[in-house]
Amino acid sequence: MATATKKPLTAAQFKTKVLHHLNFTSSEVDFQDNPSAVLRAVCLAVNEVVYEKLKETNAAHTEQKARSVNYLSLEYLMGRMLSNNLHNLNLFDIAQKAVADLGFELEDIFEEGHDLALGNGGLGRLAACFLDSLATLDYNAVGYGIHYQHGLFEQQFHKCRQIETPDEWREYGNPWEVCRPEAVQEIPLFGSVETQAQVDGSVKKIWHPGQIIKGVPWDVPIVGYNSKTVNVLRLWESRACSHFDWDQFNAGAYQDAHSAQNQAETISKVLYPNDETEAGKELRFIQQYFFCACSIKDIIKRYQKQYGDDWSEFANQTVIQLNDTHPTIAILELMRTLMDDYDFNWDNAWAMCRQVFAYTNHTLLPEALEKWAVSMFERVLPRHLEILYAINEQFLNHEVARMWPGDVQMRARLSLIEEGQQKMVRMAHLCVVTSFKVNGVAQIHSDLVQSDLFPEFNKLYPGKLTNVTNGVTPRRWLKACNPKLSKLLDTVVKNDWAKELSSLNAVAEYADDAKFQKKFMDIKHENKVKLAGEIHKLTGVEVNPEAIFDVQIKRLHEYKRQHLNFLHILGLYRRLLENPDYDMHPRVFIFGAKAAPGYYLAKEIIYAINKVAERINNDARIKDKLKVVFLPNYRVTLAEKIIPAADVSEQISTAGKEASGTGNMKLALNGAVTIGTLDGANVEIAEEVGDDNIFIFGNTVDQIKAMKVAGYNPWQFYEANEELKDVIDWLRGDFFTPGKPGELGAIAHSLLEGGDPYRVLADYDDYARAQEALDVAYKDSKRWARMAILNTAKMGKFTSDRSIQDYVNNIWKLTPIK
Ligand SMILES: *Cc1c(COP(=O)(O)O)cnc(C)c1O
Repeated sequence: MATATKKPLTAAQFKTKVLHHLNFTSSEVDFQDNPSAVLRAVCLAVNEVVYEKLKETNAAHTEQKARSVNYLSLEYLMGRMLSNNLHNLNLFDIAQKAVADLGFELEDIFEEGHDLALGNGGLGRLAACFLDSLATLDYNAVGYGIHYQHGLFEQQFHKCRQIETPDEWREYGNPWEVCRPEAVQEIPLFGSVETQAQVDGSVKKIWHPGQIIKGVPWDVPIVGYNSKTVNVLRLWESRACSHFDWDQFNAGAYQDAHSAQNQAETISKVLYPNDETEAGKELRFIQQYFFCACSIKDIIKRYQKQYGDDWSEFANQTVIQLNDTHPTIAILELMRTLMDDYDFNWDNAWAMCRQVFAYTNHTLLPEALEKWAVSMFERVLPRHLEILYAINEQFLNHEVARMWPGDVQMRARLSLIEEGQQKMVRMAHLCVVTSFKVNGVAQIHSDLVQSDLFPEFNKLYPGKLTNVTNGVTPRRWLKACNPKLSKLLDTVVKNDWAKELSSLNAVAEYADDAKFQKKFMDIKHENKVKLAGEIHKLTGVEVNPEAIFDVQIKRLHEYKRQHLNFLHILGLYRRLLENPDYDMHPRVFIFGAKAAPGYYLAKEIIYAINKVAERINNDARIKDKLKVVFLPNYRVTLAEKIIPAADVSEQISTAGKEASGTGNMKLALNGAVTIGTLDGANVEIAEEVGDDNIFIFGNTVDQIKAMKVAGYNPWQFYEANEELKDVIDWLRGDFFTPGKPGELGAIAHSLLEGGDPYRVLADYDDYARAQEALDVAYKDSKRWARMAILNTAKMGKFTSDRSIQDYVNNIWKLTPIK
């Protein structure tokens, strides 16, 4: 029987399964004008294979007593699932045939799918890539997160301004998730703590919660590529505990009976849309605790299923990775559980926590470092605050006092509590004190974590702070999104490069091969033609595929400096207006970015780019040498369409601000050439591709630091560069907003009167110079083809498989399932 199920499916068998689901699960006998019913049926047919493998995976994990990593993340930016799952299961070709037989193009069926957008940007997408790699490498891993009813908002432009509408990703159900009522958890909140003296003289703490919330798990299967493993992403939905208060209802208090339910369901209602900023809102805090508590209970339950009451193997079997500080409360929850529910003494509970937690730092930006008011902590989680205080006391009185005896300043600096008008809990400090490893996400970032963010902790805990450079999954970000390039690579690479990305190195030998160059660049051109169609559909703007496609796609942030790109576009426009024959290869600047709804300047930057784009795109004088398009609703699915068509990748953050970046890796992998600063993983990309195949510009981290010491004056750069002065003045007038001078003035104000916090003006000159060098390089088509090919060839390091293997070797110590 086992052999019968292992035989690869045929297209005919797959079609039979799809028809079965169309008839019996969707009762869609007449599906010809219903592609979304076909999508659902195809997903259900795939699920038959997926769930079979999931069962086998679970059995193997149990039998082999495999140590597992539990990845705790408030965000997962999964995107669509079908195409990826078909590729990973090697079912793509037969599904394509089967769907064609039913009268549809598989690609059109994909378009019916909705993104799982349960994340903001890079951090959430990293979690998604890591799950893919963990399953591909056959590691035992569970992802834990929140089952948001609404993921990241959808973005539209009205009169050039961003409008947000709610994301309804599962309005009509989601075929990839399955509810697990058998694993529901109950989570206490609020209330008070009672201290009970025990007969033996010790004290017992009893938390009397004010409210109990139910956590309902939804499992999304994670299919490894060409592997044995299907893991799960377990997402918690909040519900009221007693579903409905019938007494109240019968007494006529309909509203009150509903209100407890509404309040409970609010917890998992919506993803906070602030990327890299900490909002400090109670609901966000409760979200964090809710999902941490559900996950800790689930981790313990899974352990006990195998080991019962014997805790001796727990630390051998379990590692818990904290994706940023968002899940920090898991530490306090495990302490509380071990002591209050399982009668651990303090030392044993603490020793356990110090063995199982590890923490990934994602940012140095002060506004992103989480702090929670002690007063709120006390109201929501009174017992956890007691534990936190006890950890702090032990940490300060033993560890800090031993290293720096009598140093009160050091105590204040390292304390888990920040003193001040409003006492605050420093979540990152709790993470660093507890975790056995702390990693940054690119070498330069990890160095800065050691030298600038946590130098004292680095001294206190030598060897704890380390680096794991981020990566991206080549399955989604090359094989699935760029099928033409993938097939070309298959012809010259012997190994399965999608599983062994460093084998792309073999492509370097063809970098100067005229025939290969032509094939490579023809594919880039075909991808550009396709994207041009998409651009027209989304914006109405016609772009020429012969132009350079220059791409900046990422969240909108001052530190990412979309406004530097924007100022340079204005500079080019001025040059063209002055001289319509100005020598430049035609260029299309493509933006994609969502701004946090409350981020004023980010929204003004979107508005300004859209306004200027309108003007430039309709200016006949510049002979189509310049086009600017801002594609609405940037998300994983849109990234998959843009990236294969990109010639140029804009990675222009202020040095020291971008922890790693992963968009930079996806674009280079698809043959885009980077123009970028020495920041984040750009540094490592430059090492891999070599200085000739990347355009590096701008102030370095050290130079940025030196400017601060010397005193930074943006006016000096404004006065020194005529073009820069002209474009900034332009924004302050009414050239782009006739009759409304100053409507685009917010950017200028921030750059001059606002002090230019991200040093845009200091880098303008060198950026413009690098852009000219890039233009020269593109005009030499042989040289450009060589550069593009070498970018693809040299990206082996940046597979998330390598990142995961680094985590496994240096932090998690897992062994793969046999
Ligand atoms: C990869 C990715 C990001 C991260 O991009 P960066 O350039 O590294 O900031 C953000 N959003 C989406 C949809 C992505 O796919």
